[in-house]
Amino acid sequence: MRKKIIAGNWKMNLTLDEGQKLTSEIVNMYKDEKISDVVVVLNPPFPHIFPVKKLIGDTPGISVGAQNCSDKDSGAYTGEVSAKIIASFEAEYVIIGHSERREYFKEDNELLSVKVKKALESGLTPIFCCGESLEIREAGTHEPNVKFQLTDSLFDLSAEDIQKVVIAYEPIWAIGTGKTATADQAQEMHFALRRHLGAKYGKDVAAEISILYGGSMKPDNAVELLSKPDVDGGLIGGASLKSRDFIDIVK
Ligand code: PGA
Repeated sequence: MRKKIIAGNWKMNLTLDEGQKLTSEIVNMYKDEKISDVVVVLNPPFPHIFPVKKLIGDTPGISVGAQNCSDKDSGAYTGEVSAKIIASFEAEYVIIGHSERREYFKEDNELLSVKVKKALESGLTPIFCCGESLEIREAGTHEPNVKFQLTDSLFDLSAEDIQKVVIAYEPIWAIGTGKTATADQAQEMHFALRRHLGAKYGKDVAAEISILYGGSMKPDNAVELLSKPDVDGGLIGGASLKSRDFIDIVK
């Protein structure tokens, strides 16, 4: 059975002290409120990975991940961080292809395909992001557009490897805008993506892949979004920086 996952994307926020406080609060609430059937992944900026992992300790159900990794293995690439280095800090996940990386750092499908493979080779679970701009949504071509992002970056993976990937559908117009996709819009896209995966890899493989929704998910809209059959969790930006809000979404 596919996993239910709530992943927090801290983006470029929080100092060491702030990150430690947030992590401790989340770990304590997760334990005290006896949450067990949802995997929580904290994705802080790189320097936080080690201290966040220390605070999580061996708490079952909570993992740490990165927000990006290099497409290179090692060597003279100043400022880059490889998947292998990330994995050596006991991180288990890495977000790949967030729309902010695609837009501001010009990451394209081809590059992201390499990053996904580097992550898998290092034993990390890629959280592969896809999603359409407002312009594409308004033109009504969002479904083929997002399917193409999957085809282009993921469909040369084996059936075994694709099952190790988590997909996050994040309509760009809903990220950080307070404008959420309706639960029906999210379900429609998640269903379309799962069908697309099924056409390539078979229904059983597609049924194993967790597809998260991201874009202004908050405690007050999470229940409806997460009640949809093909929405297996969330990738949370703004609300992941507040322990109470984040844990309320998890619950
Ligand atoms: P948001 O961000 O929850 O602040 O909209 C989501 C994301 O960018 O992953």
